[in-house]
This record gives sequence, structure tokens and C-alpha cells, in this order.
Amino acid sequence: MHRYVRSLPIALFLVLATMVIPARAQQIVKYVRYAEGNSIRLGMLSGDTIRQVSGDLFASPQLTGKTVLLSQAKLLAPVTPKKVIAVGLNYQTHLGERSAATYPGLFAKLPTSIIGTEADIVYPSDAHNLHYEGEMVVVIGKRASHVSEADAKQYVFGVTVGNDVSERDWQRSDLQWFRAKASDTFGPLGPAVVTGLDYDDLLLETRLNGEVVQSQRTRDLIFGVAVIVSYVSRYVTLEPGDIIYTGTPGTTKPMKPGDIVEVELEGVGVLRNRVAAAQ
Ligand code: MG
Repeated sequence: MHRYVRSLPIALFLVLATMVIPARAQQIVKYVRYAEGNSIRLGMLSGDTIRQVSGDLFASPQLTGKTVLLSQAKLLAPVTPKKVIAVGLNYQTHLGERSAATYPGLFAKLPTSIIGTEADIVYPSDAHNLHYEGEMVVVIGKRASHVSEADAKQYVFGVTVGNDVSERDWQRSDLQWFRAKASDTFGPLGPAVVTGLDYDDLLLETRLNGEVVQSQRTRDLIFGVAVIVSYVSRYVTLEPGDIIYTGTPGTTKPMKPGDIVEVELEGVGVLRNRVAAAQ
């Protein structure tokens, strides 16, 4: 009897220890956001199981002990950013004959552009030239203002996959890229945000109806993650959950309603969306 009483604290410690998620970003962890009934939850993806997480994703999240099968969950965009920033013309293969800029070219999308994997990209009724842009997306983990390139990675929580959907005719004709880049559903994001990856060298691939249409490693980014985060932080205070689309490689093609576009980032997963005509 005595022995059992004495070992109780040890048993309790072991149970609690398995519920604490490693706080350090070095560990590879896949986080997802998902709907369960009327509730929106956070989870850690382990194989085909989601382990529910409580608390703030960016400040010591804890496992609740509850699980749900991935096949039973509706995944949502993995984060809800206040700011959606994007870098244009950041791969030489996308620039073609044009010469690279000497600093990152920034533009903005909107939080309302963001949709999750499996949600529809809505083709606006007056659009004619809607393109995919497969991209790696940086998720900020800590408030960042005027951070150096050397320190910038400490402010990165992880990476996810994005599709910087762009209406090329509007991009050319409008005063700004606002409508071309920030319309509703023009920001597919997900399926997971992943910590601990070497995001400076991951394979990024886009498929349109199953055909590979973009394929490049992130080591070919003209301005890498540290440079981008440091540069943006000189002008805009980045906050946990804010995201930065890092740019698309190669060439892009128009999509039409009914198309399926998939963007895959090595170690992160596949972001899959159907293009749907506006109702
Ligand atoms: Mg882009």
C-alpha cells in the first residue's frame, strides 16, 4: 500500500510530462486548426490523428488528452493572421529576363482573403485571368520590430503552404494590386503550420489538375526568410500569427472553375483547393 502511495506523484508527473508540448521551435511539430461541431480547435497532427491542444499556439500550448481522426475533422487555415504580407518577384525563375530588385518587393493581402485547405477559391464573375502562385508562407511567433537579419529566425514560429491567387489583368490595370491579390478566397493557407523545419531548403511544388506546373526549392529564394522578416520588421510591427507569403517560382497559368490546384511543401503537406465559379 505504502509503495503505491509513494509512486503516485511519479505517475502523475509522467502523465503530465506527456501532455506538455515542447516549447522550443527546433522540434518538428505540425499544428492544425479544425472545426469540431460548432467549436474551432487547435491540434497537433500525428499521422492520421489530431491531438487536441488548448491555450495560445504561440505561448505554451498544452495537449488536452482528447484526439480526433484527421479524416473526421474539417481543417481550417492553421492561423488567423492580423496581417497578411507578401513578397513579389522573389525567384529568378519567376523573374525570367527581368533583373532582381535590391530589396524585397512587398505588398499586402487581407485576413479576409484567407481560406483553408479544401475550401473553394471563388472565381469572381468579372475576372478573366486568375492564376495560382504556390508559395512557402512564414508564420510569425513573437512580436518583431526592427529585428536584425541575424536575429530574425527567433521570431519565426514555423512555415506553412500558401497559394497567392492573383488576377493578372487586374494586377496590370488597377492602381494597386488590392483587388488582384486581396479579394475574398485569394489566400489559400495550410494544411498545417510546422515548426522545426529547415525552411531554407524545402521542395515546393504546385499541381494543376494533377500536372506539376511549379517545382523549386526554397533555397532559390532571392531574399530568404531571415532577410524578409528583418526587412518587413523595419516598417511594420509583426505579431504572433501574422504571415508572410515568400514569393512564387517559375511561371503561372490561368485557372478556370472546376480546376483543382494543389501546392505541396516538403515536410508540411498539401494545400488543396477547387476553383468555383461565383454564385
Ligand atoms: Mg506571389
